Amino acid sequence: LYGQVQKDAELPAETQDGKSLELLINAGLSAEVEGSFGGLGEGVGLYRTEVPFMMRERFPTEKEQCQLYRSILELCPDKPVTMRTLDVGGDKPLPYFPVKEENPFLGWRGIRMTLDHPEIFLVQVRAMLRASLGLDNLKIMLPMITNITEVAEAKRLIRQAYREVAEEAKTDGQKLAKPQVGVMLEVPAVIYQLPQLARMVDFFSIGSNDLTQYLLAVDRNNSRVSALYDYYHPAVLAALWDIIRQSNNAGVPVTLCGEMAGEPGGAILLVAMGYRRLSMSSFNLAKIKWVLRSVTLTQAEAILDDVIKLHHPRQVRECMSEHLERLG
Ligand code: PEP
Ligand code: MG
Repeated sequence: LYGQVQKDAELPAETQDGKSLELLINAGLSAEVEGSFGGLGEGVGLYRTEVPFMMRERFPTEKEQCQLYRSILELCPDKPVTMRTLDVGGDKPLPYFPVKEENPFLGWRGIRMTLDHPEIFLVQVRAMLRASLGLDNLKIMLPMITNITEVAEAKRLIRQAYREVAEEAKTDGQKLAKPQVGVMLEVPAVIYQLPQLARMVDFFSIGSNDLTQYLLAVDRNNSRVSALYDYYHPAVLAALWDIIRQSNNAGVPVTLCGEMAGEPGGAILLVAMGYRRLSMSSFNLAKIKWVLRSVTLTQAEAILDDVIKLHHPRQVRECMSEHLERLG
């Protein structure tokens, strides 16, 4: 089986009946290191910029960030690299920027912190833009978006950074490509504002780890309640199905970049719902490609039909393992 998985790694990502898929990788160290585990797929669907921030003793300078981002963009100049702006807070504290909160997961996380510190946000976006000079594979993604105002404000800052960097580049005779800007869908509130959001952004990316946590009100890292944390909960599946339908209606491309995309059962259900772009740890890339190449879209849809009728996460899980066993 292992040999077959490896052999399939060179073949296109598609279902057995030829539905084309895009499999991308999540990265946080250097994409070079992570890509070496299982290739880069169709590009980087999520680059977690907070990881290099967390490994330091102070905020990296614009120049340091620029060098790092450049190395990642240059690694796959023909493939998209989706860089997420700093997503600290919650489970990801910065040692040199301590924040004391009673309820960190509901607190000062992601875009909330960086919009309160526009200097941090601007330095980071400028570094991304400078790193992208002469290339055009940068996409910028905003984490933990809860309302439209945050998107408007972040886009205003991105425009400001763009003007500054484009001006500097012009004096050097260089051209700066306009990056696509997208938002993460991981706070349940945005499911009810997708049409409005769709008019403001170029793409969506679902953070199913946080979306599950917030839909179910279960801390994703608390072992006492880990049995309740389950993307097979019917409410999570209903939300994911709703998001892909709404995004398709609005014509906005959507990727899913949570752990669910890297697990066979999760990936099959997502493809059945209509997802065509999945981003996962590079470790899982070959395995998921092999799994998806082994099922037809019709088979996947029949599995989803079965599962969506069930009312308990446990029933869904059992039903999925029976199907997976049958598929071999
Ligand atoms: C997610 O929330 O699903 C996600 C991809 O982001 P992170 O795990 O970094 O919060
Ligand atoms: Mg998240």
